Amino acid sequence: MSATAERRMRLLNPGPVTLTERVRGALQRPDLCHREPEFYALAMEVRGRIERIYEGCAGRFVAILLTGSGTSAVEAMVGSMVPKDGHALVVANGVYGDRMAAMLTAQGKRFTTVGAEWIAPMDLAGVERALSADASITHVLAVQHETTTGRDNDVAALGALCKRFDKPMLLDGVSSFAGEPIDFEGWNLEAVAATANKCVHGVPGISFVVARESAFAARPSGATSVYLDLWRHWKEQRTGASPFTQSVHCMYALQEALKELEDEGGWRARCATYARRASAVREVLAELGVTYFLADGATASSSILTAFAVPAWTTYDALHDGLKERGFIIYAGQGPYAGKMFRIAVMGALGEQDMTELEQGLRALLARPG
Ligand SMILES: *Cc1c(COP(=O)(O)O)cnc(C)c1O
Repeated sequence: MSATAERRMRLLNPGPVTLTERVRGALQRPDLCHREPEFYALAMEVRGRIERIYEGCAGRFVAILLTGSGTSAVEAMVGSMVPKDGHALVVANGVYGDRMAAMLTAQGKRFTTVGAEWIAPMDLAGVERALSADASITHVLAVQHETTTGRDNDVAALGALCKRFDKPMLLDGVSSFAGEPIDFEGWNLEAVAATANKCVHGVPGISFVVARESAFAARPSGATSVYLDLWRHWKEQRTGASPFTQSVHCMYALQEALKELEDEGGWRARCATYARRASAVREVLAELGVTYFLADGATASSSILTAFAVPAWTTYDALHDGLKERGFIIYAGQGPYAGKMFRIAVMGALGEQDMTELEQGLRALLARPG
């Protein structure tokens, strides 16, 4: 392996994140068979720790662990929770809202999309109209943090609509779980999909769905897939078992990441840390004359990730490559925003020295010439 590949990179992409040594070290623990009581105990502990991150979750909601990336958790949630004869209302303003619509198409389920431009907030007036007009809608699907643009969607307002119309919400919380507030009852949530390797700071390989337990007894699974059937997983995972092989070493790392989250003060402290880091980055970029990509970026951006416009005096590639030389990975814009946007996420193990070096790198690479 080359020396460059072994260098410590600080990942400012929206997952996977830079690991702490504590989490990385957990990967070295002894091998374990997922059908032995030792693994059951590990899985039960991990599930319990996930359920206790947010108030109002444990006791009513259960965490179901999947071996797969965040998309597998979203697909399991959409597939299992939306009944086969259900009708989903997809609220989309970015890549991840559109991806849920694509899942429903693949599953052959009925859905209506209330879309908005990717640079715009969710169309809440459109949601209200759709819910008033069509009583057949069974679920509202939304993305909390739309990673496409870094927009912190107003899920509280959407949740109030879900409550008013008595429609359960299915939330893609993949890039926000453990880093932003989630009000399980207030938002009328039936399930949230999330992953180990974004705000939770674990290693990639495990994702999970936190679902309202009463749903499993109330109706049959909507799943059109064998692996991504939450009903099947739940039947076995309630005892710590698993119908399929789990990623044992990733589970150790997730256990350690969850302990670390708790030691650091839980989601609120993590949210505050991200906010501090994001303001530091935003201040430097504002000084350099680099603007938010979103017109309302100053108020609408999450602390987890901010999207900026690539300034006229440089290119995305020059910025990306220059920062990579300095040991940082940033993220490009997707689709129509390729070359026009750069995104900086501040999750993971970033120390004071990392933030200082990032600031220096941004100043060196983004200074306006002349
Ligand atoms: C990252 C992300 C996903 C997909 O996660 P993968 O691990 O890449 O499959 C889904 N939704 C949102 C909002 C994300 O940020």
